[in-house]
Amino acid sequence: MTLLTFRFAPSPNGDLHLGHAYSALLNQRLANDTGARFLLRMEDIDTTRCTPEFEAGIHRDLEWLGLRWEEPVRRQSEHFGEYKAALEKLIAEDLVYPAFMSRGDIRAFISDRERRGRDWPRDPDGAPLYPAVDKALSRKERKAHIAEGIPFAWRLDVAAALSRVGTDLSWTEFENTSLSTARRVQALPQDWGDVILARRDIPTSYHLSVVLDDALQGITHVVRGMDLFQATAVQRLLQELLGLPEPAYFHHRLVLGPDGRKLSKSLKDTGLAALRAAGTTPEDIHFMVGL
Ligand code: GLU
Repeated sequence: MTLLTFRFAPSPNGDLHLGHAYSALLNQRLANDTGARFLLRMEDIDTTRCTPEFEAGIHRDLEWLGLRWEEPVRRQSEHFGEYKAALEKLIAEDLVYPAFMSRGDIRAFISDRERRGRDWPRDPDGAPLYPAVDKALSRKERKAHIAEGIPFAWRLDVAAALSRVGTDLSWTEFENTSLSTARRVQALPQDWGDVILARRDIPTSYHLSVVLDDALQGITHVVRGMDLFQATAVQRLLQELLGLPEPAYFHHRLVLGPDGRKLSKSLKDTGLAALRAAGTTPEDIHFMVGL
């Protein structure tokens, strides 16, 4: 039997807040209840926004909450070579293409279309889908653009990817925190358009590194916030393309702020360090997040 493995995978680009506390504590509780492993992973591919200070703060906050995890902690910034190897496989299979449009180019292209009365499609987060302009470039044109030094990102050709793996893509989603019942959810990665798999300045992306690491670390249960529910569609597609195992998912409720909105890293009063400094105890945090 495979050993069940849970993980908490924060990005050290800010302070942890009550939402992170809920996610980490829930993962640890589920791991304890099932005799599973519990891992911590630093998702620090954005080396400009992620800092050693935030990372140290995450360790401090989680230890204070009473969490224990296996060492060593995987730090994504130390594994760019592994992500690059996977990207190169996708490049060799023509499943990604160089995308040359800057944010400004995209905005201009879309507002031009919208001026002509056509609503441009948006992804589940509300961002406009990437125009098909670069996908239509010939090999020769791509080579010429690259030779000219035009910066580019690698984007997944979702249509090509889906025709490779088939459109009948789904994932297992647990329905409650006791993980007692689950359903299959249909994955529609096309709703995100041609997502970025590697940026001009970062040789990977959230989606690419998360699926590779979940596989490498033998994660069987991905328990994370509801805000990443739709992203699972892209991740399932990548798992199929790269021949990676499929974990089961549970997207838990989000801890909301007093205004009913999702917490953000800039909301100081719900930050764990600020709460600790104000005399809040770990038991209080359990109570505040409802665990
Ligand atoms: N690093 C992501 C975040 O902090 C979470 C990724 C995941 O759990 O899949 O939002």
